[in-house]
Amino acid sequence: MDEVIRIAGLVANCYLVRGDHCYLVDTNTPSCGRKLRRALAAAGVQPRDLSHILITHYHFDHTGNLAELKEESGATVAAGAEDAPFIRGEMPPALPSELNRLGRFLRRLPPSWIRSYQHFEPCPVDLALKEGDVLEELGLEVIALPGHTPGGIGLLDRANRRLFAGDLVSHYLGRVGGPTISASYSRSEIAASLRRLADMDVDYMYPGHGRIIGPRASELVASFASTLPH
Ligand SMILES: [Zn+2]
Repeated sequence: MDEVIRIAGLVANCYLVRGDHCYLVDTNTPSCGRKLRRALAAAGVQPRDLSHILITHYHFDHTGNLAELKEESGATVAAGAEDAPFIRGEMPPALPSELNRLGRFLRRLPPSWIRSYQHFEPCPVDLALKEGDVLEELGLEVIALPGHTPGGIGLLDRANRRLFAGDLVSHYLGRVGGPTISASYSRSEIAASLRRLADMDVDYMYPGHGRIIGPRASELVASFASTLPH
């Protein structure tokens, strides 16, 4: 079975999958480039070994270093179709949301400051993924997980009962939680996406933030999802 290696940056995770396949899921914040490269080297992986770079959603803490790594590796970049325009630089990242107090506070900061901290180098997207798409060579199925970003996706490795969940779930201090609300656009879509994840029946989930969830990841996510209003 391919090994999944969590590479924890300052705030976000990315994952290296190494074995029969070799690919990255997300690419961390722009400032974590050296750390990411050191982690690849420590795992015996050179950028040119990567066949794919899969992006769970367009936020800068998941797409930093992407353009540079694609350039160097020639890897196929894949992301949710509705997030692809943001990754290509065709659309600016969303401003903080009005869903909570923190988001409303952040919206009052100078837009130029928000834009500069959210900045990442735009990158071509080779595969714009939709619900139900299958990345056959990697053994992954695409699950649409809107709510945090419009084109957020999960990647299900059904054979090995594990799933890359992006920011829909987090896992800090032993507690499963949801995404950062100030950086999301819809509580109801988040709740629906979390219920989908809970139905996936997987052992391990790999979140964008915090520690790996599992064993019995689906049950843990189900019990968190049950606390959310319908
Ligand atoms: Zn995010």
